Amino acid sequence: MSIREEPQRYCRFKADGKIYNGLVRGKMVDIVDGDIFSGFSGMRMSYPVDHLKFLPPITPTKIWCVGRNYLGHVKELDHDVPKEPLIFMKPVTATVGSGDSVRVPEWAGRVDYEGELAAIIGRPCRKVSEADALSHVLGYSCFNDVTARDLQTDNNWIRAKGFDGFGPLGPLILITEEMPDDARITTRLNGVAVQQDTFSNMIFSVARIISFISAFATLEPGDVIATGTPEGVGPVRGGDRVEVEIDGIGTLTNPFISDSEVTQTERSVLRILD
Ligand code: MG
Repeated sequence: MSIREEPQRYCRFKADGKIYNGLVRGKMVDIVDGDIFSGFSGMRMSYPVDHLKFLPPITPTKIWCVGRNYLGHVKELDHDVPKEPLIFMKPVTATVGSGDSVRVPEWAGRVDYEGELAAIIGRPCRKVSEADALSHVLGYSCFNDVTARDLQTDNNWIRAKGFDGFGPLGPLILITEEMPDDARITTRLNGVAVQQDTFSNMIFSVARIISFISAFATLEPGDVIATGTPEGVGPVRGGDRVEVEIDGIGTLTNPFISDSEVTQTERSVLRILD
């Protein structure tokens, strides 16, 4: 593959008090005009990657997630293998970028990391076939489906999955319609690999998931679809650092900080603390 044919690597970052769109090129980021959906134009100055604070590469329109999409993970939590994609959503306020801290609310009990591949939708799609689904994908990023495991006993998963900061995304978007099946995802907790798998072990493919969702809801540019986590989920505590690395994309890194403060509002909602 020539250099020209390599997928572009899109990011957003803040420098000198301003927000820029950029294309990562080796150890440099070239600033570009326009946005990721309408196309780029021009290429102005460059910044060294090492000195940048990446923002989430997009502000998601919606955040879709798929539960139980790797056999190993289904088994470790002692669930049945799903017959069709198990879909849920996170609020967009869960989104943070690489390098941002994630608060671990102590009152929520156990909080887990879940390293995942995120597909980013680039063109609207409704009732799309599996064969055509990937043509609506703009690219891929790393995602951490942070989960308050003890709260999954709620009747739905909105609270368990929906805390502010429970959806780290980044550091960039690899612009390509399809990830190689043998691309590897690795999650590290404080530098130690705790999840490792390839996308060939997904129960439902990205194309199948997109086709499934689009049968009932319109997918829009900026929709993020987190495609499920491999075996090896586990708890995080304040002071931990979680990295989600995907071949060809990069590493999403987030420090976790303990949040022992319980507000009066939380106290009244929880009751258990009274
Ligand atoms: Mg998940």
